[in-house]
Amino acid sequence: MSKRISGIHHITAIVGNAQENVDFYAGVLGLRLAKKTVNFDDPGTYHLYFGNEEGEPGTIMTFFPWGNAYRGKIGDGQVGVTAFAIPDNSLEFWKERLNKFGVPFTESERFNEKYIGFEDPHGLLLELVERTPGKNSSWEFGDITAETAIKGFAGALLFSANAEKTGELLESVMGLEKMGQEGNVARYQSPAAIGNIVEVMTERQGIGQMGVGTVHHIAWRAEDDADQLAWKEKIENWRLGVTPVQDRNYFNSIYFREYGEILFEIATDPPGFTIDEPLDSLGQELKLPPQYESVRKRLTQELPRVQVRDLDK
Ligand code: ZN
Repeated sequence: MSKRISGIHHITAIVGNAQENVDFYAGVLGLRLAKKTVNFDDPGTYHLYFGNEEGEPGTIMTFFPWGNAYRGKIGDGQVGVTAFAIPDNSLEFWKERLNKFGVPFTESERFNEKYIGFEDPHGLLLELVERTPGKNSSWEFGDITAETAIKGFAGALLFSANAEKTGELLESVMGLEKMGQEGNVARYQSPAAIGNIVEVMTERQGIGQMGVGTVHHIAWRAEDDADQLAWKEKIENWRLGVTPVQDRNYFNSIYFREYGEILFEIATDPPGFTIDEPLDSLGQELKLPPQYESVRKRLTQELPRVQVRDLDK
């Protein structure tokens, strides 16, 4: 049996105002702000991680809030749409909730599943779809209970600049199984219970432009460091350039740009977010990697203040 990637680890996007970002993903969508840190490559900017109670791989949506940056353009070479999994029989709850917060949405169907599609405040395209597999999130917030809370990723719709090559990489190298094609969407599946349905748009959308409201990269899961190195070798054998391993504190990462121009990362499941703060208080304090502790005071002064607010009150 050839090697298979288990599923999506995290998805990272560029957004605008940080408090608007927190209000939407924590306040409206009910995800837990699981880590408040800085962009390790640009420490004057936050890196905010949202997920389920533990911030487990497969549930983590992360953001670089670039308050005053230019709006990007969603298109080829990017993750076009990020889909979250909600529990069975919770779709009506979510329609009501989006209405309550004045978020317009559309309803559609593909592969016999009902989707609701909407935008976040900065233009990212999101979807919700009911999925039976995967445990419920125990993070209850506002009016959201474990019976309705987002479980994690359902998957992602990739806008590839070369759908055929992207599909080939997913299938032949990463070990996803092609489930079929419906209209201009090809569907692939990986073994994990969540973050396991990855789709590729087979029709060109026009080249994307990085900026506010676009996904920066999609990360896939490696079991541990050894598994990650095995993936590195496998991808290099496919003649793609892969970065050296980078220490992201909560996981180790390698990056490569696939033939469809999308930036892929492979991140290790361990050690996770409890490496530098207890589970109970995840996300409350600004956490910095050792190399930035000496400038904590300056960073704290420069970064905008953000707080998780219960918007149901
Ligand atoms: Zn990443």
